[in-house]
Amino acid sequence: MSTSNFYLESKDINVWFGERHVLKNVSLQFPSNEVTALIGPSGCGKSTFIRTLNRMHELISGAGLAGSVLLDGQDIYGEEVDPTSVRLRVGMVFQKPNPFPTMSIKENVLSGLKLSGRKNEISDDLVETSLKRASMWTEVKDRLNDPAISLSGGQQQRLCIARSLAMNPEVLLMDEPCSALDPGSTRRIEETILELKESMSIVIVTHNMQQAQRVSDKTAFFLAEDGNPGRVVEFGDTEDVFNKPIDPRTNDYVNGHF
Ligand code: ADP
Ligand code: MG
Repeated sequence: MSTSNFYLESKDINVWFGERHVLKNVSLQFPSNEVTALIGPSGCGKSTFIRTLNRMHELISGAGLAGSVLLDGQDIYGEEVDPTSVRLRVGMVFQKPNPFPTMSIKENVLSGLKLSGRKNEISDDLVETSLKRASMWTEVKDRLNDPAISLSGGQQQRLCIARSLAMNPEVLLMDEPCSALDPGSTRRIEETILELKESMSIVIVTHNMQQAQRVSDKTAFFLAEDGNPGRVVEFGDTEDVFNKPIDPRTNDYVNGHF
């Protein structure tokens, strides 16, 4: 039974790299059927934070963590919880598209299931559904056996989204998914995000202020001032954060003043 009103929720997340405190007391809620944008200057801890939401930060040596993350009410850092199972339920898409380049489009979609031993779920239907959800089925349905490297950058990124979706995640984390893409590919991914939010919770890091306003319901503004750890300065409805921010530093940032 869920003990939380929110689907994914961080509570007082703190992160250290060695002695260095890089994130302080980040408590945010990510409901189902909502997109949350994480914005803020480079180096303020957005990537570090998003990686704590599916225990990916544990793969970085020297990273220390305090706090908790609840997924449907359950602490993903609980002793009994297997980190791999968390990463299957909470998928991640990165800035640089990273499909397996020589593997076929179809094999890429199925690679997550294969690697995690869920081979019984593999089917042509799942390939089709996943590629449809990532808005690229019509483009690739006649070339499913071509290698991923034959796709454009934007298609490779949508293939990575399809690969995550094949796992049927409850949450999708996206760390600057469009930063390496052209405007047309960016628009297609934004449309995909808006369709996907009907069936999951989405967290997206973006430096594109228009993108944050186009796709997100909520926005969190992160800031790390004068060598202090990054923290959330403002969190609220995207419209409010952009149009009537409470903190003057939010107003400066969203208007390009730093
Ligand atoms: P953002 O994504 O907002 O640009 P990051 O989360 O990448 O910021 O980085 C936050 C801070 O943590 C930065 O000061 C960065 O140098 C530091 N940092 C990030 N990753 C590591 C790491 N693996 N080891 C040491 N320091 C790191
Ligand atoms: Mg980053």
